[in-house]
Amino acid sequence: MIPFVREIEFEYGACDRVSPLIRRVVARNPGPFTFKGTGTYIVGTGDVAVIDPGPDLDEHLEAILAATAGERITHIFVTHNHADHSPLARPLSERTGATIYACAKQGVPTESEVRMEAGDDRNFRPDVGLCDGGVFRGGDWTLEAIPTPGHTSNHICYALLEENALFSGDHIMGWSTTVISPPDGDMGDYFQSLETIKARDFSTLWPTHGPPITDPAPFVQAYIDHRRTREKQILAALAGGHTRIKALVPDLYKDVDSRLYPAAAHSVMAHMVQMVRDGRLVTDGEPTLDSDYRLPT
Ligand SMILES: [Zn+2]
Repeated sequence: MIPFVREIEFEYGACDRVSPLIRRVVARNPGPFTFKGTGTYIVGTGDVAVIDPGPDLDEHLEAILAATAGERITHIFVTHNHADHSPLARPLSERTGATIYACAKQGVPTESEVRMEAGDDRNFRPDVGLCDGGVFRGGDWTLEAIPTPGHTSNHICYALLEENALFSGDHIMGWSTTVISPPDGDMGDYFQSLETIKARDFSTLWPTHGPPITDPAPFVQAYIDHRRTREKQILAALAGGHTRIKALVPDLYKDVDSRLYPAAAHSVMAHMVQMVRDGRLVTDGEPTLDSDYRLPT
């Protein structure tokens, strides 16, 4: 079982100091994918960095500016170009002169009957690309960009070296698992990115949605185990005669809000793609949402 954490105290628009170097302002965009809303982090003192400015809401822009009054935002870091993370980056940059950093690689558009999360932010362009990572310094902070593809192909986590902490974006969240939706989402990459973070042994993870994860090692292991269990469940269902993703989902996701079933179907498909790739499953042609899947004979 994943030891989910969902307790979070905050007021929309208010700035809370959550660690010696980290402050947080939560945007008013709650929903089934965003939990209470986007948590925008302000890092450092004086010359500060902002991580995941969030949705393009005037109220949230003003809240970030109020929180940093008398300071200078020098860097804006974005974890990935989903509509609940990146759209406010440009307006915030225009107001402050800050430079926008993110992986510039455009993900494969999600073409599906469901709108994933709040959707892709197709217009997002960083000023500086960091798909291969990098280290950035302000007055009292050092942030290391760590490529973590999986949720999206361009997902980046940011380590705050002074606190051995990680801004984990949507890669690892305390309140929920994350959606992996092919073709841009990739389960093989996701497993590798979980191992990358596990190996770093961070003290705290700060996801963009929800409260921090303060004991990351067992949490990340449980996240990995959860996906491995899901693979076994899928293989068992296929052994039991199931062939279609949409028929599997309600069985596999009994405890999940049914509004999330379309997203869950994409996560199951991500497993299918990976297991077809490594020969544990077969299908005819490209694996899709509507393919028939079977065990190899
Ligand atoms: Zn996302």
